[in-house]
Amino acid sequence: MRDTRTAVVTGGAGFIGSHIVEALLVEGWEVRVVDNLVTGRSENLEKHQRLYVSTGDVRDRAFLTRAFRDCEVVFHLAASVGNKKSIDDPVLDAETNVLGTINVLEAARTGGVRKVVVSSSAGVFGELKTLPIREDHPLDPDSPYGCTKLCEEKLALAWTKLYGLEAVCLRYFNVFGRRQRFDAYGNVIPIFVFQALRGETLTVFGDGEQTRDFVHVSDVVAANLRAASRPGLSGAFNIGSGARISINELVRLIGKVSGLRLDVRYGPERPGDVRHSLADVGAARDGFGYAPSDGFERNLADYVEWAREEVRAR
Ligand code: UDP
Repeated sequence: MRDTRTAVVTGGAGFIGSHIVEALLVEGWEVRVVDNLVTGRSENLEKHQRLYVSTGDVRDRAFLTRAFRDCEVVFHLAASVGNKKSIDDPVLDAETNVLGTINVLEAARTGGVRKVVVSSSAGVFGELKTLPIREDHPLDPDSPYGCTKLCEEKLALAWTKLYGLEAVCLRYFNVFGRRQRFDAYGNVIPIFVFQALRGETLTVFGDGEQTRDFVHVSDVVAANLRAASRPGLSGAFNIGSGARISINELVRLIGKVSGLRLDVRYGPERPGDVRHSLADVGAARDGFGYAPSDGFERNLADYVEWAREEVRAR
């Protein structure tokens, strides 16, 4: 029996992946990161004697097979992420998310991996019909990204049935936290915070009374580690905060924690937007003791502090 447990984190140089890597190292794991460094960044990872980083792509099965040797758990985060990006490039979305996940599952199976934890998305639900959203809500994705994330889940659970590979799929709601950058496909918190810090105008789409379940990255990390440590557990679980905040309230809190006077304008509703989103996290709580923190304002302040350093460093 090896003394040190080994985990692979695909997409480990990315926003969420790098936080999982840090937590695994603190818990004493040996960690192998596989990342193609397209959206991930090596500066997200500090050097560590138990951390090994390999640059490569999940579309390359031979590469994954080498990386997964003697590994116990794989956290699979490498993906082409986001609804808009998937509409712009559905082929890249499918190749990375569907074929990439098949490669991950095959490399895991042949390498004797015990468990795969797949990062999924609330995008698998599509238009939301009930609140809060339980796992048994209809699965009717309305973007290529939602479809490929659902496909990832179904593939992973098929590998459980076929080969006994344990698979837990975590459906993230609106994740935020340090290292989440502002880009063309960005989410509302990085967009607003960076706009605020640069003295730019924030645009609220619609009346701002739409709500989202913003979940801090530390809760997502805890969910991944807890799900991995529960022997025999397989299935799909919602990972949110269990609370919802309106976009108007978000703007007010960004003003409060940053101390900035914000310039806000209201524009047309964004086509295809859902009005409200809220996770029921009861299944994750019962399944692996998931307990989200309730410090949205504190976590937002922490994000603003990080973003300030980023803006200053440029
Ligand atoms: N939003 C906004 N202004 C922006 C970006 C987003 O008002 O510049 C709103 C958007 O219309 C949505 C909410 O913020 O209602 C969350 O958007 P995001 O893209 O972060 O997440 P999703 O809609 O996919 O849950």
